[in-house]
Amino acid sequence: MTRTEKELTEVRERLAVAEQTLNAIYTQEVDALVVAGPDGDQIFTLKAAETPYRLLVEAMNEGTLIALPDGMILHCNRRFSEMVRLPMEKITGASWQPFFKADEQEAVASLMQHAGEYGAKGEFTMQAADGSPLPVHLSVRALKLDGVESLAVIVTDIAELRKAHQALNTANEQLETRVQKRTGELAKANEVLRVEIAEHQATERALAEAEAKVRAYAGDLEQRIRERTADLRAKVAELEIFSYSVSHDLRAPLRAIQSFSQILLEECGPTLSADHAGYLRRVIAGAQHLDQLIQEVLIYSRTARGKLSFSHVQLDTLVRDTIQSYSMFQPPAAEIVIEQPLPTVVAHEAMLTQCVSNLLGNAVKFVAPKTIPRVRIRPETMGKHARVWFEDNGIGVDPADHERIFNLFERVHANNDYPGTGIGLSIVKKAIERMGGSVGVESKPGHGSRFYIQLPLASDV
Ligand code: ADP
Repeated sequence: MTRTEKELTEVRERLAVAEQTLNAIYTQEVDALVVAGPDGDQIFTLKAAETPYRLLVEAMNEGTLIALPDGMILHCNRRFSEMVRLPMEKITGASWQPFFKADEQEAVASLMQHAGEYGAKGEFTMQAADGSPLPVHLSVRALKLDGVESLAVIVTDIAELRKAHQALNTANEQLETRVQKRTGELAKANEVLRVEIAEHQATERALAEAEAKVRAYAGDLEQRIRERTADLRAKVAELEIFSYSVSHDLRAPLRAIQSFSQILLEECGPTLSADHAGYLRRVIAGAQHLDQLIQEVLIYSRTARGKLSFSHVQLDTLVRDTIQSYSMFQPPAAEIVIEQPLPTVVAHEAMLTQCVSNLLGNAVKFVAPKTIPRVRIRPETMGKHARVWFEDNGIGVDPADHERIFNLFERVHANNDYPGTGIGLSIVKKAIERMGGSVGVESKPGHGSRFYIQLPLASDV
């Protein structure tokens, strides 16, 4: 091919391309743009430049309209067509009015009129082709399209938003109702509480008044008790002095009865009948018993009254001396064993001797006939006190009587079998208690008895 033929072919090919482009522009397959350049006017197809905008408008979730001020729709996107449920070709060229509810058309028209270049917005209700309502938000703006006054409208479906608002309103209403209900309940509760507090305060006031009364009464009572106690003490002291002197004075005539009866028995005994001699012996025995009674009452009185002076008393020595002092506490009359050395205690020595003597006396006295009394004495430490047990093999005491045998004149066993006055244990109890100690017994009939005395231990020995 010659150079000229080659150039001709190239020119033909370029012409064919130019013809194709122009055809496309004429048939509106491609939008075109004429731009004046240094080499004269140039035609640019807009397909490439505009595509993103077209895609954007078609793909966006909002409806878009281009309309003339008189209402005719020049263009709409696919979304708008979906919203009103009408094909795009039926929308283009139609008026926008029928798409809005009749009572809102005027307002929509006013919005369109006043949109201007800064735009206007509003919420309205459109109606789709099938008549269903469609709440929308309109954003309108005036613009010039190819020199023609037009309106660009963005239509946003706000049905979901409305629903959400409604749901929110409902939720708010429900919340409000609940708040009111709760407030009502709280007010009620507050009222109940207020009443309760008032009652509580009233009760407290009443309590305080009652307490004040009780305090006043207690003070009064204490005062009266103090006075009565002082009174009583004075009377008891008086009585004790009286009984002491009476007892003391009784002993002299009693001794006279005793000794003269004795003389009578000794000197006239052989001349007396057996009966008369018997009467005389009973007079002597009665007088002796009465004398013992008086002596013990005197001891009890001494034990119960007057001030006591305490010292450290070696119980071991005291008990051994007591045993040594009476033959009835020694073999063959009795067997008394001190099992372990006894401690030193704080006591009034004479009184303690009396107590030990009384306990040992009872232990050897209250045995079954023909029984040799056996007594075991053993100590036990009880914190700061010493407890000393006197355990015998005697006839025992019923537990029902354990308490009362420590009372004055209380006796469980018959006088014929076991003579006595019923004062011995009262002296023990009174004396030991006055020395800051205590007494007790464990016993059963036929099983012996265990009496104890408990006294404060001497701490510095
Ligand atoms: P008395 O010995 O003069 O009867 P007490 O006051 O010493 O008076 O004792 C009161 C009573 O307690 C006694 O009459 C006796 O019934 C009972 N009793 C005291 N010691 C013993 C004892 N070791 N064994 C059995 N009974 C006892």
